[in-house]
Amino acid sequence: MSEAHRVAIVGAGPAGVRAAQTLVAAGLRPVVIDENARWGGQIYRQPPADAGFRRSASTLYGFEAKKAEAVHDTMATLLPHIDYRPDTLAWACEPNRLDTLHAGREASVPFTHLIIASGATDRIVPLPGWTLAGVYTLGGAQVALKAQGCAIGSRVVLAGTGPLLYLVAYQYVKAGANVAAVLDTSPLSRQAAAAPRMLNQPSTFAKGLYYVGWLHARGVRIERGVTLDRIDGGGDSAVSGIRWRTQRGDARALDCDAVGMGFGLRPETQLADLAGCRFRFDALNRCWLPERDAAGRSSVPNVYLAGDGAGIAGADAAELAGRRAALALLEDIGVASNRHHAMKLEHELGRIAAFRAGIEHAFAPPADAAQSWPDDLVVCRCEDVTAGAMRACIRSGLATEVNRLKALTRIGMGRCQGRMCGESAVALLCAETGKTPADAGRLRSQAPVKPIPITPMLYDDGVQMQPEEAHDE
Ligand SMILES: Cc1cc2nc3c(=O)[nH]c(=O)nc-3n(C[C@H](O)[C@H](O)[C@H](O)COP(=O)(O)OP(=O)(O)OC[C@H]3O[C@@H](n4cnc5c(N)ncnc54)[C@H](O)[C@@H]3O)c2cc1C
Repeated sequence: MSEAHRVAIVGAGPAGVRAAQTLVAAGLRPVVIDENARWGGQIYRQPPADAGFRRSASTLYGFEAKKAEAVHDTMATLLPHIDYRPDTLAWACEPNRLDTLHAGREASVPFTHLIIASGATDRIVPLPGWTLAGVYTLGGAQVALKAQGCAIGSRVVLAGTGPLLYLVAYQYVKAGANVAAVLDTSPLSRQAAAAPRMLNQPSTFAKGLYYVGWLHARGVRIERGVTLDRIDGGGDSAVSGIRWRTQRGDARALDCDAVGMGFGLRPETQLADLAGCRFRFDALNRCWLPERDAAGRSSVPNVYLAGDGAGIAGADAAELAGRRAALALLEDIGVASNRHHAMKLEHELGRIAAFRAGIEHAFAPPADAAQSWPDDLVVCRCEDVTAGAMRACIRSGLATEVNRLKALTRIGMGRCQGRMCGESAVALLCAETGKTPADAGRLRSQAPVKPIPITPMLYDDGVQMQPEEAHDE
């Protein structure tokens, strides 16, 4: 890569890989940084290279096996042409520089152009018992299966809402795990009402129906429109069961030793925030998103956004958006690109966005859960902040927006930096004040975006960083 154009890509999922491919085809040599040990991102996550088990692509990725192999093979062919840095966390971003950490070593990665393809994580809506041992996110439950070849328990309940709920249930049962129940907080009537909007992606829609039908055919208990009441723990503080109410209000309980829980996905936007991107509230994603144009250009010159990290749209859209953002970058540095191809990518992304709107309506997370949170519910598990402590702070009038609530209660100041609890804090603030999420404010991101060791780090030349040089946590 010429010194004039140092391109960094964060994320080696479908978006990052396709962005890298497009840049390499134009003669650039991007740095590709990913905290995972192997490329593929979330959906096409690969087991560790030295895993003690072997599972075929079709077993790991089901209907998506061919797409997974295509992304994996593409990345393998790119390796001689890129500077690939796996197992590397980009923990801070400043103008024209990423700070990264790999095997305890700190390295600065200067860039002239940055593509952020950082993906998403599960959305959490807390309920009593959610911090017990044996409660995982749905994504975490899936990672256990894909990367470790194991289930999260011997009798598992999957709860929450979203397409991942049924997909993980299907993958678990197919792998031989015991799924005691699938508890969906979204009612069937809402899902049926959203169906017409999802018909513009008929094969994706059909796959969803297939998973549900397949689970029904195997006798897996599925309940929709439920209200999750609590996850019970035994004497060892581990999960022993779950309680909920049916759509008609009847109380139900079930024994289990693990719960996989998630309410859709939320974009990982912290690096875009640290890069200085302007944000706007997005009603569909129910969160603040970095602004971008149809090509993926952010509000900051030379910073581009692609994939789920800029708004949840799924893996196919991530591939398209990665390509489109890379083309935008090439256009901006004066490399002639195929305008027709770029327009086609944008058109296809628009079609997927319409489908995505249907999904978000079909599987909306419970809107009013925060009102019923008991005062002793731990909302921020890193800092042990309860709903009661937050309510007291809000009712005192001291916190009218979420960053003030953070300053006064420490919610969002711990290891997760608000990635797990930030939306819950906003939900509680809204429940107490009547504000809308758009008016409740946006948690400002701080470096490090994910935990890094506070023991002295090494610079990439092997010299130990002095304490006063270390970045503040
Ligand atoms: C846990 C989970 C499981 C999912 N499973 C499925 C599924 O089975 N089927 C399906 O259709 N969809 C699934 N999805 C959604 C799907 O993964 C996404 O739509 C798709 O992968 C988006 O691609 P992407 O390239 O935008 O992001 P991702 O595939 O998420 O890739 C982002 C990459 O960026 C890296 N990264 C993020 N932040 C940093 C950082 N600060 N430093 C370094 N690296 C970083 C991550 O390690 C990751 O490899 C899942 C999502 C999640 C969160």
